[in-house]
Amino acid sequence: MTSIPLVDLAWQHAQVGDEVAAGWAEVLAKTAFVGGPAVARFEAEYAEYTGAGHCIGVANGTDAIELALRALGVGPGDECVLPANTFIATAEAVARTGATPVLVDCRPDDALIDLDLVDAAITPRTKAVLPVHLYGQMADLAALAERLPEGVALVEDAAQSQGARRDGVGSGAAGAIAATSFYPGKNLGAYGDAGAVTTSDGELAAAVRLLGAHGSSRKYVHDTLGFNSRLDALQAVVLSVKLRRLDDWNEQRRAAAKRYEALLSGLEQVGLPVVADGSEPVWHLYVVQVDRRDEVLAELNAGGIGAGIHYPTPVHLTGAFAGLGKGEGTFPVAEAMGGRILSLPLFPGITAEQQERVAEALTAAVAR
Ligand SMILES: *Cc1c(COP(=O)(O)O)cnc(C)c1O
Repeated sequence: MTSIPLVDLAWQHAQVGDEVAAGWAEVLAKTAFVGGPAVARFEAEYAEYTGAGHCIGVANGTDAIELALRALGVGPGDECVLPANTFIATAEAVARTGATPVLVDCRPDDALIDLDLVDAAITPRTKAVLPVHLYGQMADLAALAERLPEGVALVEDAAQSQGARRDGVGSGAAGAIAATSFYPGKNLGAYGDAGAVTTSDGELAAAVRLLGAHGSSRKYVHDTLGFNSRLDALQAVVLSVKLRRLDDWNEQRRAAAKRYEALLSGLEQVGLPVVADGSEPVWHLYVVQVDRRDEVLAELNAGGIGAGIHYPTPVHLTGAFAGLGKGEGTFPVAEAMGGRILSLPLFPGITAEQQERVAEALTAAVAR
């Protein structure tokens, strides 16, 4: 039996390969490899797609978060609040500004940041709160915004939520500023590293652009200490071509999520993902919860099913953030989830047969 990957990027490439090749040929002929018209075009398209109005292409999603925070003036002595269960990049980006990551636990139902715990984590040093739209579902930004004191910015980590909406507001346009990643496996994926910052605030947009281009808005004039974090044209071509299909591909993810729900909802050993009212997730990942997760995962993998874990270790228990001094037991919900979560294969192009095979294998594994 052929194996079923967690994500099938070859299916996507088969849809867009010809258009990408034509776009790349144009870039190669013109030799505008960094910045240039292809990048400007994608930035305009993504600014419109998100509804944010401004988009700045950068080198990757981690840089996007860091540049967004730096544009807000976040630095040493400041604190930024973020969930303990996220990909490590959210915390890394905060630490790279010199600010202190202040972690909070997540909600046991939808795994998103627990708003009640955010209140308690805010201090006079708090500059930003970074909700992570984990697994493709947006955090409740409207409720969060109501709770934040003045001067505390809402910075979306929108790396997993391209195209998601909640209460009518789109991911990337719901906070003061948003950061996203176009790492190949994301819903909108490049053919290498890439990322973007989106915002409706023209001043913040200009600040991000300045910081990512060596602190320079005019050639060889450097009034600000900046970085090199730019989007290259070959990636921009891929992103423009794929953006035209993103809504359709997200629809396919939604249909696949529905199919898993139908296949698995009778199984009491499997906790299904919870979607909040008013939320339209884009299913970056389909994450269920099971007992004996490691055994179940090993059995699925042995059967050729590319299930995975996102993420096995909450941020506070990684070696990188041991210095925060938050030991085991600090964030019980995130820790308990870390031992139970299981990501099932889900991608545009997944077939009903593939999903039925995953469901059969999971049913057998949890019954042991
Ligand atoms: C992928 C991801 C990032 C970082 O993106 P890179 O492009 O890999 O730097 C940040 N946050 C979350 C939640 C992610 O999934």
